Amino acid sequence: MFSVLVTGASRGIGLEYVRQLLALSSPPQHVFACCRSPENAEDLQGIAMENPSVKVVQMDVTKEDDFPAAVREVDGVVGERGLTVLINNAAIFSGHTCETATCEDSVHLYRVNVIGPMLVTQAFLPALKRAAALTSSDDTTMSMQTAAVVNMSSVMGSLASTKNGKSASYRMTKVAVNMLTVCMAHDFASYGILAVAMHPGLVNTDMGKRHAGKLSPKESVCGILDTLLKLRGRQASGKAYQWNGQILAW
Ligand code: NDP
Repeated sequence: MFSVLVTGASRGIGLEYVRQLLALSSPPQHVFACCRSPENAEDLQGIAMENPSVKVVQMDVTKEDDFPAAVREVDGVVGERGLTVLINNAAIFSGHTCETATCEDSVHLYRVNVIGPMLVTQAFLPALKRAAALTSSDDTTMSMQTAAVVNMSSVMGSLASTKNGKSASYRMTKVAVNMLTVCMAHDFASYGILAVAMHPGLVNTDMGKRHAGKLSPKESVCGILDTLLKLRGRQASGKAYQWNGQILAW
């Protein structure tokens, strides 16, 4: 059984993940589309109405009190088969530079973009471990079809690609997401769980609309899924990929 949980699925890339997962030739049996306000996520609710495999789950990644109910909902569906893929997609942006960033703004960004994925992954780790344990995954068989965590990163967190200090506080969170991914790859390898970071390209969403030469969410997520589904083995873990399959330099 192949199941996927996406955080921040109310709009943008997260919502497109839900659409494109359903469009795969072998779609997941279960897609858990998490959002902090299901009552306001009209597009997502529309998809869920037409696709019984989609379950909308309320979860704010900064609210640990939301996690137990979300885990219960997922466990109630997947049971002993576990959760195959967790996509830590939810994030916020801030344009502050290192001259203008405030403590409050920076801490909030870090809370959503870094601590959120870390604690959400902790909450779903037992379910991911159960999925990994179903296949005798070793260093060569680990893949998205066995068990994986995907952390949405950004070229803006790439030290090698940084040529200006714009949006310093956001960049800092994505550098931390990259390190979180490397730590997860080390710690989760023995369970047979892959961990990768993914840069979606510059995508035309509420967050990405300031960029020139944008990808549509569909182009981005089709490329991401194509890339993710080809990953095989321990050596694929602990790396940052781009939507088009290229490696993103740290
Ligand atoms: P959007 O701003 O369009 O969407 C962000 C999503 O995150 C929304 O669904 C939002 O929910 C959700 N979210 C925000 N805060 C929380 C929270 N506390 N708990 C749960 N959900 C939350 O962003 P994108 O779709 O463009 O970005 C998706 C990912 O891709 C992010 O990690 C981003 O950093 C990364 N990325 C995007 C790029 C781009 O060009 N768009 C480029 C590089 C990386 P709500 O509707 O409730 O606000």
